[in-house]
Amino acid sequence: MPELPEVETTRRGLAPYVERQKVTAVSIYDHRLRWPVPQDLPRRLIGRVVDRVDRRSKYLLFRLGKDTFIVHLGMTGSLRVYREPPARRAHDHVDLTFGNGVVLRYHDPRRFGAMLWSPHSALPHPLLADLGPEPFSPEFNADYLYRATRHRKIAVKLALMDSRLVVGVGNIYANESLFRAGIRPTRPVNRVSRERLGHLVAAVRQTLAEAIAKGGSTLRDYVDSAGEPGYFQLDYYVYGRENEPCRTCGSAIRGVRLGGRATSYCAVCQR
Ligand SMILES: [Zn+2]
Repeated sequence: MPELPEVETTRRGLAPYVERQKVTAVSIYDHRLRWPVPQDLPRRLIGRVVDRVDRRSKYLLFRLGKDTFIVHLGMTGSLRVYREPPARRAHDHVDLTFGNGVVLRYHDPRRFGAMLWSPHSALPHPLLADLGPEPFSPEFNADYLYRATRHRKIAVKLALMDSRLVVGVGNIYANESLFRAGIRPTRPVNRVSRERLGHLVAAVRQTLAEAIAKGGSTLRDYVDSAGEPGYFQLDYYVYGRENEPCRTCGSAIRGVRLGGRATSYCAVCQR
């Protein structure tokens, strides 16, 4: 599933080709994404200029004047830029053509992604309304986490993956960040001290930043490429390493299920 680093890399990969470009054609080959692609999307987009491409959590936000075209990649979605588009393949659902001849193509085998239109309004789109701070924003800090979690007894890992608390920390990055912060994923979040929450904030940023940096080396995969953009394989400390030795202390990494998600940790390094 594309996580925040993949979405941010997608944004960086396509932005130079579509920003300040006018949409000249929109082809919708299949409307059936997570929600139907709006029937009037071509009418709304054609003739408009994409001012810039932003990201909020895992949503890509194409800004056109005061309106926003919102794209979410779901489980298996990807966006690719073509200067000369090849013939459509299976699961290519939407093409946006721009004045510079570039085609932005949306591909999604499982069709859990979304394409939505948000007209100018004082209120954010409902999907974005309840999102917590971005992990790299100053609002995400030890004091904020401390205040927001004192009354909550859920496991710290589940709190970290709750997008109302902070956005963009999926399962892989929650596991890895907690290892780097030395915090056991199952510990009740209200029993993690302010100081240790500060370590966690730093670890989340470091882990995501490393993945985004790794994504930088794959940017060319988003342009004129035949294959699917890959996922960024970090050298994980704990994720997917159950029963293997901890890279720090050599103990066997333990695996448990937490909220239905694979959770791994070192019982010596994480308390
Ligand atoms: Zn260890």
